[in-house]
Amino acid sequence: MQTLRASKLGLNPSLLSPAILDVLTTLTDAGFDAYIVGGGVRDLLLGLHPKDFDAVTNATPSQIKSVFGKRCRIIGRRFELAHVYSGRDMIEVATFRAPPNRPNTTASGMVTRDNVWGTIQQDFVRRDFTINSLYYQPMKGQVLDFCHAIDDIHARVIRFLGQPALRFEEDPVRLLRILRFAAKLQFQIDPDILAVLKPSLAERLLEVSPHRLYDESQKMFSGGYLARLLPLMIEHHAWPMLFADIPAKMTAFIQRAADNTDSRIASGKSINPAFFYAVLLWQPFMQRVQQLEQSGLPTHDAWTQAGVDVLRRQQRHTAIPRYAEMFIRETWELQPRLIQPKARQIPSLVTLPRFRAAFDFLYLREQIGDPLVAGMGQWWHDYQEMSTDQREMAIRSLNRQQLRQHRQAASQPNAVAPAIWSESIDSDPLAVMTEAMSTDLESRSARRRRVRREKAQALQREGKSATQPDRAVQTATDVDVRLDTSTETESGSSDDKTMPVAAPRRAARGGRQEATLPRRRRRPRDLSTVFMGPY
Ligand code: ATP
Ligand code: MG
Repeated sequence: MQTLRASKLGLNPSLLSPAILDVLTTLTDAGFDAYIVGGGVRDLLLGLHPKDFDAVTNATPSQIKSVFGKRCRIIGRRFELAHVYSGRDMIEVATFRAPPNRPNTTASGMVTRDNVWGTIQQDFVRRDFTINSLYYQPMKGQVLDFCHAIDDIHARVIRFLGQPALRFEEDPVRLLRILRFAAKLQFQIDPDILAVLKPSLAERLLEVSPHRLYDESQKMFSGGYLARLLPLMIEHHAWPMLFADIPAKMTAFIQRAADNTDSRIASGKSINPAFFYAVLLWQPFMQRVQQLEQSGLPTHDAWTQAGVDVLRRQQRHTAIPRYAEMFIRETWELQPRLIQPKARQIPSLVTLPRFRAAFDFLYLREQIGDPLVAGMGQWWHDYQEMSTDQREMAIRSLNRQQLRQHRQAASQPNAVAPAIWSESIDSDPLAVMTEAMSTDLESRSARRRRVRREKAQALQREGKSATQPDRAVQTATDVDVRLDTSTETESGSSDDKTMPVAAPRRAARGGRQEATLPRRRRRPRDLSTVFMGPY
């Protein structure tokens, strides 16, 4: 072990937060040893701004609790820790750990409980990488280095303390930690580690609880180095362990979202890790929508059900909490509403809590050239910048444009989709979703009319007479049927049966429908059974 002068390494207390200084001083004054350890020391030595400081002490959790009283909360079962609050900040305080007892490991060697207290020397051995094992005591101005960790920091290399295979066995999450640090610090991975990074090793991640993996994924998404980390996850087989249904490939969409996330973090903006899940799972989601639509589910139901299904499958790997699940599904479900908004709903869409995320998502799709967005990303972008008068004008002009498109679609119901919608289906990573959505090109009313016409023609071909109404045709004609019922109700008929409508009568109204169609009569309600309430 070597004791280094902190000042010589460029470390001094002014670089530390008041909270960590408060915790270390209070523990030292109470007669305990206390150090900053791990990422805080490592990042300071590299001239980076540590995201937090972790403390370690020879006080047990209950002793820490008695020193800090109400300011301290003991957390964790597998790995017991104290959370100490100082002002608005929280410092994680761990107790020196000795090697775990045998009964606290699984058959495959994974440590399930790690609460045996020990000395600082024993604690050092338990840490994961050399670069994370420096102990800094700011009041004494000392850094304790047990393994020439400082040399590895200068050489920019990630090296395990101990046998890589064994250390992975104890805790498979260390694979994700290696990749995370390699991406964050842009350090090399020690060849001894690379030698054991096989697919079978990554598979051990399946033994880890989905809750822990979700926490890890949050750290990955919010560190500010996602664009570097994702290719490493693919290269070292960790991706399929975390995101089973998502092809292990950096699509244009994922790449763009990762770049955006990193630059938001770099400029101090907040990010919601659930947004990145929404991006990752978009492709499986659209595939599922397509499957469900093909199985006959109406579009709206298919979107809702696909969201539930895709997230349920993902939750087997990373336990996405309920609030994140709602965020993801709402972001997806708002996509068609933003692409084809109803004019009167536009002002209220902007006020929805999930609007901003859904808009960002849509805008991202547009940026990578997703043709289905049809320019609406830019439209919403501009809309948000407009004055009230300008907004009204924009809505009116969008409304006119939509009407024009509907009319066009109605006049050419079987027209092939315009080139922009169907181009590059094979090569584009968005091919699947483009295909899935292409059924929406024809407006709903046009599609309804076409289905009705085709069914009527089929009926004619089959030679069915008007007195043999077809149940399917009845459903398809609901819109027109409703038109007829008003006169029937006025005439006071109480017949509930489906009645054939005489073809000549419909022909007289414009002759759109040549086939004989069934009509449903409305049954007047028996008001004697309805409670009208007091006036
Ligand atoms: P950062 O906080 O920047 O993500 P860190 O190194 O501080 O990085 P933490 O997760 O905060 O990482 O953990 C603090 C320290 O605890 C680590 O530096 C390491 O010494 C130790 N540690 C954390 N997780 C493990 C693990 N799975 N196995 C062994 N030691 C670990
Ligand atoms: Mg840390």
